[in-house]
Amino acid sequence: MTAGPPDDHVRRDELAEHLDDVRHQIDAAAASVGRRPEEVTLVVVTKTFPVSDIRLLSELGVRDVAENRHPEAGEKAAELADLGLTWHFIGQLQTNKAARVAQYADVVHSVDSERLVRRLGTGAHSAGRVVSCLVQVSLDPPGDGSGRGGAQPGDVTHLADVIAATEGLRLAGVMGVAPAGGSAADAFARLSQTAADLRAQQPSATMISAGMSHDFGDAVRAGATHVRVGSAILGHRPPLG
Ligand SMILES: *Cc1c(COP(=O)(O)O)cnc(C)c1O
Repeated sequence: MTAGPPDDHVRRDELAEHLDDVRHQIDAAAASVGRRPEEVTLVVVTKTFPVSDIRLLSELGVRDVAENRHPEAGEKAAELADLGLTWHFIGQLQTNKAARVAQYADVVHSVDSERLVRRLGTGAHSAGRVVSCLVQVSLDPPGDGSGRGGAQPGDVTHLADVIAATEGLRLAGVMGVAPAGGSAADAFARLSQTAADLRAQQPSATMISAGMSHDFGDAVRAGATHVRVGSAILGHRPPLG
């Protein structure tokens, strides 16, 4: 613990206020399209923030947290094992780190290649765990080269089949990141359609992970079941290298 009690209270109040605000916006977006608020899970993106913040979030009722880098993610999950949180891994994942991530992540959102599926499966199976996997779908124009990762929409069904057939992994759904330019609403509508097509063949694939601090309302209106919100709750991060 680095923060003493007075700082702790200030930070706690700040996080509580931001959480309330985001939850109200999620509820309003859901209501505007006739969805129930319980259909949307808020996943708080805690990357770069200290474990003391995650403890405060847990006290404030947060059950789902997301990290995007190994080993930072694993170190936090180990230190906070007593909280019983659900740990989401949302970052682009190097193949050589995948087996280790599968030893602590409960849900991996960024699965976009067969090589990654195999390594995740090996890690999960050897740890005696079952890891839920989302196929990350590229929502960028083809050949955009943004480096955000993600499988091409036409490859989603095949990748999903490989996940479903891999011991230690469970196919849970799809994830997407809206392109930097253009309409987030359009991108999320395409993701929802991909999710519906997949669900017709794989009924367990019910999760749609979409939306960040600046566009989670669009994501909820388009059908997201999980939104990944960081800075709107925790404040500004130093830019990631
Ligand atoms: C960092 C990150 C988020 C959260 O972004 P904010 O703008 O801070 O809400 C969501 N999804 C992914 C994949 C991220 O890397």
